Amino acid sequence: MLTVHDLSVAYGESMVLSQVTMDVPPGQVVCLMGRNGVGKTTLLKSIIGLLRPRAGRVYFHGNDITRRPPHERARAGIGYVPQGRGIFPYLTVHENLLMGLEAASPKERTVEAVDEMYALFPALKVNPRKVAGTLSGGQQQQLAFARALIRKPRLLLLDEPTEGIQPSIVQEIQDLIQGLRARREVGVLLVEQFLDFALGVADYCYVMEKGAIVSEGLASDLNEDVVREYLAV
Ligand code: ADP
Repeated sequence: MLTVHDLSVAYGESMVLSQVTMDVPPGQVVCLMGRNGVGKTTLLKSIIGLLRPRAGRVYFHGNDITRRPPHERARAGIGYVPQGRGIFPYLTVHENLLMGLEAASPKERTVEAVDEMYALFPALKVNPRKVAGTLSGGQQQQLAFARALIRKPRLLLLDEPTEGIQPSIVQEIQDLIQGLRARREVGVLLVEQFLDFALGVADYCYVMEKGAIVSEGLASDLNEDVVREYLAV
């Protein structure tokens, strides 16, 4: 569904990604691991169109989207939950969900779309008028997921959903991703640094080091010791 082919990306003169190639098949959870600063967020930003690559291609459902602007990629079905969640803390739960539909076509902007998200995330339905910034960390993450899922993306990019989350809530997030995986309606590219978390939800894993993919394999086949070395500071 998503194919990144030989992608190289630089900030000015500083090359950050070199010849990255990866695939996300439909309905699968693919994890990208690597320590801080290796280029994981840069790759996600290149996939959604915020950064322009120096070389290489991004294909989505067989179409070359390398030069397409972000809004076209979103419309084609790529959803994104940024690091730090990116919800609007001073808006209510309900208003945040509506913001997720802001760029949608009038056809997509329906009461049913909002209701579906409340059905998927019942904790959000308890008090839709609650100001988002006062929700617990886990609920804020649910809201961020719901805001991205409301447009029914076919691919969801998640940038470190466990970052800054209390350990007790990490399991909730794992359950959320496992729920997505069980439904197989949306492919997920998950950036994650916790190996156990990644292995608990992913079908396939890539490991990145200094902007290049250095290891990959089925989550079930991965040599954990090798990956731990790459993740060690
Ligand atoms: P990760 O997500 O793996 O932590 P990033 O993709 O955020 O890594 O960053 C990769 C490298 O690019 C780092 O060395 C970082 O300092 C650098 N970098 C990130 N954003 C910018 C930017 N806007 N301008 C210049 N360098 C950047």
